Amino acid sequence: MQTPRYSFLLVLMFLPALCAPPPAALAWGPHSEITRAAQEVLPEREKVAAYFGSEWRRLQDYSLMPDWRNSVREDFFPNDFLLWPGVPAHIQHMMPEVAATYEPYFRRALQALRTETPPNAARWIGSLIHYVEDSGAPCHATPIKGEMHKRLENWLDGKAVSVTGYQPQLLGKDDVSALRGLLERMKRLVAFSKQRAEDIYAKVEALQQREDQPVILDCANESARAVADVLHTLFTRALPATPSKPSLAGRVTWPANVPFSKQPAKVMLLGTGYCTLTDTNGAWSFSKLPGKNYRVAVERYGVGSAIVKGGDCAAVTLSPANPPGNLVRNGDLKLRWLAASAPDFWTAIPASQKLKGWESDNIRVRSNVVYRIGVADPQSGVRYGVRWRSSTSAPKTVSTNIVWSADIAERELPAASFAATAQLLILTDKPLTNAVRRAWLVPAQ
Ligand SMILES: [Zn+2]
Repeated sequence: MQTPRYSFLLVLMFLPALCAPPPAALAWGPHSEITRAAQEVLPEREKVAAYFGSEWRRLQDYSLMPDWRNSVREDFFPNDFLLWPGVPAHIQHMMPEVAATYEPYFRRALQALRTETPPNAARWIGSLIHYVEDSGAPCHATPIKGEMHKRLENWLDGKAVSVTGYQPQLLGKDDVSALRGLLERMKRLVAFSKQRAEDIYAKVEALQQREDQPVILDCANESARAVADVLHTLFTRALPATPSKPSLAGRVTWPANVPFSKQPAKVMLLGTGYCTLTDTNGAWSFSKLPGKNYRVAVERYGVGSAIVKGGDCAAVTLSPANPPGNLVRNGDLKLRWLAASAPDFWTAIPASQKLKGWESDNIRVRSNVVYRIGVADPQSGVRYGVRWRSSTSAPKTVSTNIVWSADIAERELPAASFAATAQLLILTDKPLTNAVRRAWLVPAQ
């Protein structure tokens, strides 16, 4: 018997901004300016600029990477430079939580400089220095939330950030001492900005309208000095003198007419923390890899994934997704590199959503376009659905969850009029791969 096509079991609409401060409002105003100021004083800046080429200027944008988490970009997914088996879930940007980022992202940036191409390394370095910069924001160091958070990180003239004349300090002579030096440096930065937040809190709170504060500029400048120390140490430790010879390399090909034509593929060495993106032509390489005998997993948005032995990775062809045009990343649930708990690009639905199960990564959708949404081989009791969202991070995100019984394994539904992104929802008490075999969201034609 057919049940109505739009049998909504549950529809929720809410404004998360009312319950919790949205991540975008927690961004230290002048990230790019702090990065620029640090770049300007590096003793090796000409050599580094030559190594990175056009990516050197882009590091100023990449220092926003953690604020781009979960977003969907035309050129790459920011989460691919934020999550790996060393950090399988996002870490908060305020003290004390942010202190947990320093060691893993420092190690990951060193690894990227030694083993990956300049564009990949620049992005991983961007992720690291974002957390360094955030730690020096008065409201992150203290920490302070709400209206005063916004004032204490934005009431300064970002263009004035400058540390001209500063000589970046080497944080250690080898990786172990550099890491120790980094943790000490971060303690000093946090203490610097925390003290100043306390000094000016009452004065700034009493102001009726915006007034740029020289003390907040001092904190931004101290953040730039810390970033300069971090960059100088990374480049002294790990910048290749000449481009390194690849120790593992290959080319990935995929069908034409896939979504996001400028997106590369992602290459992961299973059971390790090594991963990298291809260039837009599918070429990839790792240098200075320890050992051999890797199992290589390859995936690209809009097409299937593949796992091959290291000896067979020189040329990998990815097949069309199933069904063709599936916009769900890892829709066949076969890729599991990031964590043992779930297939990559799927996470447990947060408790705040009051739904039990799994949600996909964000998918770019167009409002009012009709999509086919479905699951293969749902186990009994499984429900599925979709969350339409107006954005991935901005304040006042509007969001709707729509959930169906899996008696009918595929539905058609127009994206909500406000929708910019979607997430597939699989509701179950079971591990995801015990609940369904595949899931999809495809434009209906
Ligand atoms: Zn941040």
